[in-house]
Amino acid sequence: MEKHFEDGVEYPKKMDNNDKLGHFRHRFYLTKGVINLCGNSLGLASKDAEESAMVMMEHWKEYGIRIWGLEGSKYYLYSEYLAGLMAPIVGAEKDEIAVIGNTTTTIHQAISTLYKPTKEKYKILVDDINFPTDRYAVDGQVRLKGYDPKDAVKVVPAVDGKFFDEDMFIEAMTDDVALILLPAVYYRTAQVVDMKKVTEAAKKRNIIIGWDLCHAVGAIEIDLNSLDPDFAVWCTYKYLNGGPGSPGAIYCNKRHFKTLPGLTGWFGSKNETQFLLRQEFDHKQDASGWQIGTPGLLSMATIEGALKIILQAGMGNMRKKSLHITAYFMYLIEKKLSSYGFTIGNLRDDSKRGGHICLEHDEGYRISLALIARGVIGDFRDPNVIRLTPTALYTSYMEVYQTIDILLDIVKTESYKEFQVRRNLVV
Ligand SMILES: *Cc1c(COP(=O)(O)O)cnc(C)c1O
Repeated sequence: MEKHFEDGVEYPKKMDNNDKLGHFRHRFYLTKGVINLCGNSLGLASKDAEESAMVMMEHWKEYGIRIWGLEGSKYYLYSEYLAGLMAPIVGAEKDEIAVIGNTTTTIHQAISTLYKPTKEKYKILVDDINFPTDRYAVDGQVRLKGYDPKDAVKVVPAVDGKFFDEDMFIEAMTDDVALILLPAVYYRTAQVVDMKKVTEAAKKRNIIIGWDLCHAVGAIEIDLNSLDPDFAVWCTYKYLNGGPGSPGAIYCNKRHFKTLPGLTGWFGSKNETQFLLRQEFDHKQDASGWQIGTPGLLSMATIEGALKIILQAGMGNMRKKSLHITAYFMYLIEKKLSSYGFTIGNLRDDSKRGGHICLEHDEGYRISLALIARGVIGDFRDPNVIRLTPTALYTSYMEVYQTIDILLDIVKTESYKEFQVRRNLVV
């Protein structure tokens, strides 16, 4: 898409009129007077997600326990069903994906399955600015194997606490590294990592590599088939709009189908033998063998509707709009806000930035509260980053334009000073 932006209200009007994805906006629940720029944290509810949840309720009401057998056992095999919808979004085969627990559970499952430390090769390589639950899981897994995380977890520090060059990860791939877990897109800085380059380097060194796609799935195009990592994990409630607490998903490369899962449970059994309820675990030799217990159908149902919208819109179209609308956002920030202490904290190259804008300001926290009070919902991450995400499916160019006006008013009138500096629990 062309990137010759214009200031003024005519430009966003024109862009909204020509937006091929514009009609998807009406499939989401938008609140009057609210501009939602937080789709990187929790995507909005859609009519489609609501419908699939209501269908699930109706089935439960009408069929009771027989719900599991409906429509050719669709709900007994619901993880597989959702995997089929998710497969094109991450470029994997359907049988390489399972829906389980949450992202943290999936990391525990993947590492406990694939981490086989030896005396010489026992370290897990991570970075120091990833979302911390990934680190907690890694530390926990090395402890379970009898190691001290101080020794067995090798941490690559970000330059100035912000960015990485892929070579930094590759240089850290020493002979003692057994497994690598890195995010594809950083939750704070929005940096996109060159997964191909890092994955190839890891494979050359015989190191198991997994990607956390939480901030990547639904935001950037991903082709796990060509990347060929050992595993990947992601959540479904951010850019996939699956709903608060909708389950996590896991990709297990075909080459590991025969490996016995680390966290074994009866929903990982072969379909034919699961209900024979034998004492011996007979594991299904694909990603669905990584399932653990009974799936939470009600919290999975919303994913079904939400994914259908994404499949109709197409990830390529979504990424194209996301890059364009965020570039427009940055254009307006530089033109109108740079003299008020605002800077753009994310990288500028299209191939190096994910779906959100990192707007930095020394008063970032109070400004983020003032924004929320004015109906603009973003969020704040220490020390000074306001994360703002115009999503491809439901943010209009006019909303971006209005957000800039509101930001300008907040700093010009210093209305953010009405807000306390003390942090709230969640925002
Ligand atoms: C959002 C996010 C998570 C969330 O973990 P849950 O277990 O789903 O709560 C984990 N890792 C990363 C990198 C994330 O962005």
